[in-house]
Amino acid sequence: MITLALSKGRIYDDSMPLLRAAGVEVLEDPETSRRLILPTSRPDLRVVLVRASDVPTYVQHGGADLGVAGLDVLLEHGKHDGAADGGGGGLYRPLDLKIARCRMSVAVREDFDYAAAVKQGSRLRVATKYTHTARQHFAAKGVHVDLIKLYGSMELAPLTGLADAIVDLVSTGSTLKANHLVEVERIMDISSRLVVNPAALKLKREPLRALIDAFEAAVGAAA
Ligand code: ATP
Ligand code: MG
Repeated sequence: MITLALSKGRIYDDSMPLLRAAGVEVLEDPETSRRLILPTSRPDLRVVLVRASDVPTYVQHGGADLGVAGLDVLLEHGKHDGAADGGGGGLYRPLDLKIARCRMSVAVREDFDYAAAVKQGSRLRVATKYTHTARQHFAAKGVHVDLIKLYGSMELAPLTGLADAIVDLVSTGSTLKANHLVEVERIMDISSRLVVNPAALKLKREPLRALIDAFEAAVGAAA
């Protein structure tokens, strides 16, 4: 049995055309089913539904053989204080699936002069879910920051005075705009990656290789 970890929402939705191109149909709709393990048209392949940020954990520890996770999630995976492996290890990353694309950016209130604050060497309060990536970004720029870890609704932080800036994912920019925020710096482009458990790749080499190859062909065809 091969187990593929996906998260509901855009990753699931954007993965379906790739799975279909690889000849796989998921036999239940996660939006209507309450099941967390979904059978597919291939008796030897099942899909498990997990939180987006849990996909690397499932794959790393063998709860799934492979999975689809955003680069944002992969860069933060295992980087919390006290992480056993110092972060990010134990995952084979063979493929950029080029789905769920967006960018990670710095945003501030419209009336906040970010460039001036940086130039003056002010200490910035930055709220984000992506503390590891944000820390790296500002350290590389030589900007002093106090990072405030949030789990959602980052846009609220500058509006309430919790922070001067946020680091968040942006696609169209309409959420920022609706909250009177402006994007002042692009940190990196984000897309979702296929991740594979290295031990599984050894034990189930043939079927996993075939699946990875089929994904690769599907990505190429979609490009
Ligand atoms: P949860 O909803 O469980 O807290 P999440 O918010 O990370 O998790 P999604 O919103 O489904 O879950 O995002 C999953 C992935 O999709 C993210 O890790 C990121 O790579 C990508 N993503 C997030 N926001 C956008 C966006 N606005 N446009 C395109 N891709 C995005
Ligand atoms: Mg989300």
